[in-house]
Amino acid sequence: MSAPLRLVVTCLLAAAAAACAPAVDESAEFYVFGTLVEVRLSGAQPEQAEAIFATLQQEFQRMHRELHAWEPGELTRLNAALASGEAARTTAEIGTLIRRSKDYERASGGRFNPAIGKLVALWGFHTSDFPVTGPPPAEAAIRALRDARPSSLDLEVSGDTVISSNPAVQLDFGGIAKGYAIDFACDVIRASGIQDAIVNAGGDVRTLGDNRGKAWRIGVRDPSGGVAGGIEARDGLAVFTSGNYERFRQDADARYPHILDPRTGRPVQAVAAATVIARNGTTADAAATALVVAGPEDWPKVAEKMGIEAAMVIYADGRIHATPGMLEYFTPGEGREVIVTESAP
Ligand code: ADP
Ligand code: MG
Repeated sequence: MSAPLRLVVTCLLAAAAAACAPAVDESAEFYVFGTLVEVRLSGAQPEQAEAIFATLQQEFQRMHRELHAWEPGELTRLNAALASGEAARTTAEIGTLIRRSKDYERASGGRFNPAIGKLVALWGFHTSDFPVTGPPPAEAAIRALRDARPSSLDLEVSGDTVISSNPAVQLDFGGIAKGYAIDFACDVIRASGIQDAIVNAGGDVRTLGDNRGKAWRIGVRDPSGGVAGGIEARDGLAVFTSGNYERFRQDADARYPHILDPRTGRPVQAVAAATVIARNGTTADAAATALVVAGPEDWPKVAEKMGIEAAMVIYADGRIHATPGMLEYFTPGEGREVIVTESAP
């Protein structure tokens, strides 16, 4: 009786393996910064994969503790010191994130700005519970925080010490931390000798090498549901999307998305989603946020200033606009068309 049953089970397993990934793929899921991160290693030995996953588990937990914008930890401790005008010691990692943030803030003309933590908190976005409900904050409160002009450029980092010339600065790495964590994971994977892998945090992806000789394929979600198309990437590229359709405040009359324009202190609406391809996740993450803020007029210029050749945006009405560089990777879904921006002069 038991022999045929075993046969059936074996066949089912074989069929499942053939339909999904070949048996030598190893994958694991982690939870960091409120997002599920899937790591898939191609061609790894099980013991090697286990060691990598154990390291990643520890490092993701550490980053969650040290980089979180509102759960008490290293960054909230630093923010308290910055608000009081005192010099404070911090980690080398936070020092690095501040330095890189300054570059992104400069290049994006202030559209990416991780120093607006007070504004993010005022809008109620320091929560994992979306949608936030209720009316927007008082106009005077928004204006006061905006006019205090917090900027990462107000920070001076020397060695492991940070001081702010502006007490309004509160760091919130929400627009960059996921990219940083994914890059970190890719460094761990590569240092262990694995050449082919994909790290996917809810659609924000970095690839290593290829997928058994083929490019990795990444779906680009449509803000109004379904997929807008697919991106084929290989060789360490990062593909990141920032959208204003998932995390927002909702009241009776309006929706207020979680990406804020630091220059107005208010959520931005015109670009529903921006997708960026870059050589690393940190840059791609910062740039995707900046392009949403930049809006329909400015996003191609801001992409160029940030050194991004492949970028696309999807508007609320579903129109897709892309740079010529994006067309090397992106194929629109059936029935979708792409309007290509002019190349930069
Ligand atoms: P997603 O959550 O879709 O990955 P982003 O990468 O764009 O989106 O990150 C959005 C988060 O970044 C917000 O929740 C907030 O913490 C922070 N943020 C909001 N506006 C800005 C901005 N203009 N510059 C930098 N960070 C921002
Ligand atoms: Mg981002």
